Amino acid sequence: MYDKLKEIYAKIPQSKCENGCFECCKNLIQFSEEEKSRMGGYEYNGVCSHLVDGKCTVYDSRPLVCRIFGTSEILRCDGCEPEGFLGKEETLEIMKEYAQLRKNEEASGNK
Ligand code: SF4
Ligand code: SF4
Repeated sequence: MYDKLKEIYAKIPQSKCENGCFECCKNLIQFSEEEKSRMGGYEYNGVCSHLVDGKCTVYDSRPLVCRIFGTSEILRCDGCEPEGFLGKEETLEIMKEYAQLRKNEEASGNK
């Protein structure tokens, strides 16, 4: 399952959030069970439990939603500096693959 996740992540352009912004981390996020396990669980108290002193403490294990926002033409963010933007079709294809991965995860009993 992680190999597939890595394959999906690899399609997302690298991106940098400007000026220590962590607006996205104030939102309740979604993730697969594999991602939850890899980031060591998740709790939400108005911000993500992995946000410490304005920084993500699980950056290398952050889930897809934290990676893709700001890197797509349909998920734009003015504060981001991605190396490029995913087009609409590419974004939808990634979301489709990710949804399938989560379905497979559920089907395998990893709920
Ligand atoms: S993606 Fe944009 S809004 Fe979200 S944390 Fe980065 S700079 Fe801030
Ligand atoms: S996992 Fe990291 S990037 Fe994602 S919401 Fe939490 S602190 Fe922010």
